[in-house]
Amino acid sequence: MSNIDQCRDIEELNPLCQILLNKALEEIKTAGINPLIVETYRSQMRQNYLYSIGRTVAGTKVTWTQSSIHTLRNAVDVVPQRKVNGNMTAIWKASDSETKKIISIMQKYGFEAGANWTTSPDSPHFQIKGVSKNAKSYSSTNTNSYITKMIQKALNETVDGKWGANTTKAVNKFRKQFGWKEDGKVGVQTLKKLIA
Ligand SMILES: [Zn+2]
Repeated sequence: MSNIDQCRDIEELNPLCQILLNKALEEIKTAGINPLIVETYRSQMRQNYLYSIGRTVAGTKVTWTQSSIHTLRNAVDVVPQRKVNGNMTAIWKASDSETKKIISIMQKYGFEAGANWTTSPDSPHFQIKGVSKNAKSYSSTNTNSYITKMIQKALNETVDGKWGANTTKAVNKFRKQFGWKEDGKVGVQTLKKLIA
């Protein structure tokens, strides 16, 4: 596999992102939708290559950025696929009802949806933005409003997207049930339990 090939492997994503994505995919399938993972991790070399299309290489532009969250292992592209005239077909349409359902489920699990961007909306794109590159846990100092909302909802706390003292307290209370250190962090094990 060359460095500019497309990668669809979920295991190439950040471990926390993997947990949230797998949980969302489970719910998407339960809703009767057949999701197609189009792309997960993207090497910087592939991002640069995609950026060159329509600029230094002939073709129509496919991306507007050289610094994608895909390169940080925290983004995934998902579209629904279903039979159209007997052929399994990927649906690339923001107004499609299955696309809309995927967007609402992915948001529930803390992903920011590209469909909601006001400039250059990208309906198959979902990302976890603003957390450190190799994040092993979410905490008051390493989160974003989408992730915080998801965690607050799972903890039955007020959902305001702001990780304050009350959120830390609720995280610690949750951790305590399992005999874990009250460090205010939601790591891989806590996240698994939290959204189980
Ligand atoms: Zn994307």
